[in-house]
Amino acid sequence: MSETPASYIPKRVLAVVAHPDDIEFSFAGTIAKWTQAGATACYVLCTDGDAGFTQPGITRRQAAEIRRIEQTAAAKVLGVREVVFLGYPDGLLVNNLELRKHLVRQIRRFKPDTLVTLHPTVVFVGDGYINHPDHRACGQAALDATFPAAAMRLVFPELEGEGLEPHRVRHVYVSTWHEANTYIDITDTIDLKICALKEHKSQVNRHDIGERLRQWAAERGKAVGLTYAESFRYIALPAGEAEKHAPPEEELEEEPCEEVPGPEAGPAVIRIAGSN
Ligand SMILES: [Zn+2]
Repeated sequence: MSETPASYIPKRVLAVVAHPDDIEFSFAGTIAKWTQAGATACYVLCTDGDAGFTQPGITRRQAAEIRRIEQTAAAKVLGVREVVFLGYPDGLLVNNLELRKHLVRQIRRFKPDTLVTLHPTVVFVGDGYINHPDHRACGQAALDATFPAAAMRLVFPELEGEGLEPHRVRHVYVSTWHEANTYIDITDTIDLKICALKEHKSQVNRHDIGERLRQWAAERGKAVGLTYAESFRYIALPAGEAEKHAPPEEELEEEPCEEVPGPEAGPAVIRIAGSN
């Protein structure tokens, strides 16, 4: 059977989202499917979700620490190798050149063949939800970083000073319930998706959250005859001349592990032992 965007298994996948729990609510079943098939995965979190608490007395710093721990635990459930926290303040994310440069840096560092992110323009969802502005800013920034900036040597040329060469992403999956053209079967990984979501203990306290995830995934799957699915807008980006004639990829060297600094210290890379 020929490969399709629904059956493709990335070698290296970078997921870029706004908040801890965005992946678990939206496309964690797909990430689990890919890591189980051998993909190496990295998450980039633009914010720490540090405004996601309603009880008085908790500071942004305390909230960020809790949410980084929860996100790292959720990533571990799915066999994700790294989680990068950019440390922008929750609720205030803007798609600007600084954010684009941070994301280009992560793309050139991790060298994914596949990038997954959030929808950049959806505002209204049904009659009862307005899509969070951080989600839209993140999605647009991730797409703008992916194409064409990450592959252009003369855009952010200072990154070459960090040893980061231009890199082309070939496959883009935008998680969406609108304009979907790809449905990925997560029937075998929905239980893992629910387990990962439940690691966000400070956010998810409904006893029926697993059932809600199943219901949403069943609605997606129904469109294409699957029990449970996640839906995406898939975009295939063109190969550059170098890639067309490139020899098989060699195994990339691993980045050193760093300890987690405080949220205000900026980007932090957390390596998860034992992952792909
Ligand atoms: Zn979110």
